[in-house]
Amino acid sequence: MEYISTRGKVEPIGFIDAILMGLADDGGLLVPKHIPQLSADTLQKWQKLSYSELALEIFSLYVNNEIPRDELKQLVDDSYATFRDDAVTPVKRLNDGTYVLELFHGPTFAFKDIALQFLGNLYSYVSRKTNSIIHILGATSGDTGASAIEGVRGKEGIRICILHPHGKVSKVQELQMTTVDDANVLNLSVDGTFDDCQRIIKELFADVEFKHRYHLRAINSINIARILAQTVYYFYAYFQVVNSNPAEKVTFSVPTGNFGDIFAGYLAQKMGLPIHKLILATNENNILERFVKEGVYQPGAFRGTYSPSMDIQVASNFERYLFYLYGEDAQAVSAIMDQFKAEGRIVIAADKLQAVQSDFAAYGVQNEECLDTISEYYEKYAYLLDPHTACGVAAADKLAVDGEVTVALSTAHPAKFDESIRLRSIEQTYPQQIQALFDKPQFQTIVGGTNDEIKDQLVKFF
Ligand SMILES: *Cc1c(COP(=O)(O)O)cnc(C)c1O
Repeated sequence: MEYISTRGKVEPIGFIDAILMGLADDGGLLVPKHIPQLSADTLQKWQKLSYSELALEIFSLYVNNEIPRDELKQLVDDSYATFRDDAVTPVKRLNDGTYVLELFHGPTFAFKDIALQFLGNLYSYVSRKTNSIIHILGATSGDTGASAIEGVRGKEGIRICILHPHGKVSKVQELQMTTVDDANVLNLSVDGTFDDCQRIIKELFADVEFKHRYHLRAINSINIARILAQTVYYFYAYFQVVNSNPAEKVTFSVPTGNFGDIFAGYLAQKMGLPIHKLILATNENNILERFVKEGVYQPGAFRGTYSPSMDIQVASNFERYLFYLYGEDAQAVSAIMDQFKAEGRIVIAADKLQAVQSDFAAYGVQNEECLDTISEYYEKYAYLLDPHTACGVAAADKLAVDGEVTVALSTAHPAKFDESIRLRSIEQTYPQQIQALFDKPQFQTIVGGTNDEIKDQLVKFF
């Protein structure tokens, strides 16, 4: 398997080079040169596999023989052994038509663990094999940072520095990041917003001399390894739901921010998984909802919501979808992205809009509606949704067709977002692992938001 850029100006590269490159050198995103096509026979065979076995089969298709199978198996097993549920991503039935796919049983109680436990082990493997140090630099609005740190803490050959906006992440998210005291972890708490943090990271990565001198690597959701890891649970959930009837089609409802998670579903569908429809759920930051409904991709004003991990105006994985929408035509994608840069918006033609609408349905959830959904499901099913999951469930309620099976992806444990859930006077008991965080000392350095200050910290740390 080789990987190419959505903008067509990178020579095809192998799997390990692709994960190390992160963002493609020509500014595009890396995608597999060919999408593996699964026969009905293969799907049938995969039905009885455990999560880790299934992950191994899927990764094997994309890694080729760059990592020997026994070593890949070890990486996969290590990555999912840290999950608290034997099924890794169990599916819970709420009523006849609606299921919840629980993706929050990893170390930091959010779905990002599924990809970042694997990516952490993969980086560690590459560091051992190539005898080189890997320095990870990232910015987080909360979940990614905690998950990335948990994926690499204590690992030899890797150091990680995560920037988060000071005082602007949830208490549990802050504790998850800053109570880690491993020597290879540096938390910088930046006096500014998440956008400031992202801008600093972007500029440091663009400083080629600095980037190369310190071997900087990224962990954001544009890394192709993260997408591949996330396709696995679509298959796994599908098999759990249809068990007896392999021909049945299933709809997935996906709370979306950067278009990463839902793109993984799109890829699973392209591989041959009989997904009926992908429901794209947004919060009030609804650029993607507007795109699916109107064919116009244009950032709006930023809105703070109860689902902060989806408070995103420009979806970093969206370009991967454009690549397939335009028949894998890298020139067309380049032209569209140039136009986006110049004019701040993308408008697609009517025939393309039709294609988009056959791939996705979309619904944007308002703030109060999100909390209403939490209250409703808590009362009706004694099931507590986190605010991100509630967006997915609310969208499923609006758009699902009677008699069809819909699986809503649950991307975080409610304990991570207690501040919002309390607004509806719902009391929850924290899982013991989260409760324990409140008694631990915190390790973080509070810094101003200038590049030079951050650089100074990094130079000392690396
Ligand atoms: C990151 C995140 C999302 C959005 O995922 P994308 O891949 O950015 O679409 C949704 N919910 C939670 C809890 C998250 O952490």
